[in-house]
Amino acid sequence: MGCLFCSIAAGDIPSNKVYEDEKVLAFYDIAPQAPVHFLVIPKTHIQSCGAIDESNADIVAHCFQVISKVTRELGISDFRVVSNCGQQAGQTVPHLHFHVLSGRDMTWPPG
Ligand code: AMP
Ligand code: ZN
Repeated sequence: MGCLFCSIAAGDIPSNKVYEDEKVLAFYDIAPQAPVHFLVIPKTHIQSCGAIDESNADIVAHCFQVISKVTRELGISDFRVVSNCGQQAGQTVPHLHFHVLSGRDMTWPPG
C-alpha cells in the first residue's frame, strides 16, 4: 500500500499548497483544527519523529526553517507546532509531518 503523503509530495494526489521546494512541501490540512492549519512534510519518506537520525536531520531542520518562513509570510506570530509520533499519540498518517496551528487560543497541556 502506498503512502498518502508521499503521493501528495509527488503531486499524484492534489493538495492546497502553501509552500514547496525540492525538499519540502507545506499544504493546508483537509480537516483544520484551527483557523490556520497546515502541514509541513519532507518529500522523502520518514516514518515519524522516531525515525529522525543523522541521515535525515538536515531535512527536518529545513522543515523548521520553512515553518518560520511561511508563518512570517502569512503574518502569523503566535502558532503551535505539533508532530504526533505513533498511534497512541494520535498519528494517523505514517509519514513525518509537522502541524502548524494558529488563529485561536490554545490550551496547555494538550488533551
Ligand atoms: P496525524 O493524525 O497527526 O497523523 O495528522 C494527519 C493529518 O493529515 C490530519 O490532520 C488529517 O486531517 C490530514 N490529512 C489527511 N489526509 C489529507 C489530505 N489528503 N490532504 C490534507 N490533509 C490531510
Ligand atoms: Zn511517505
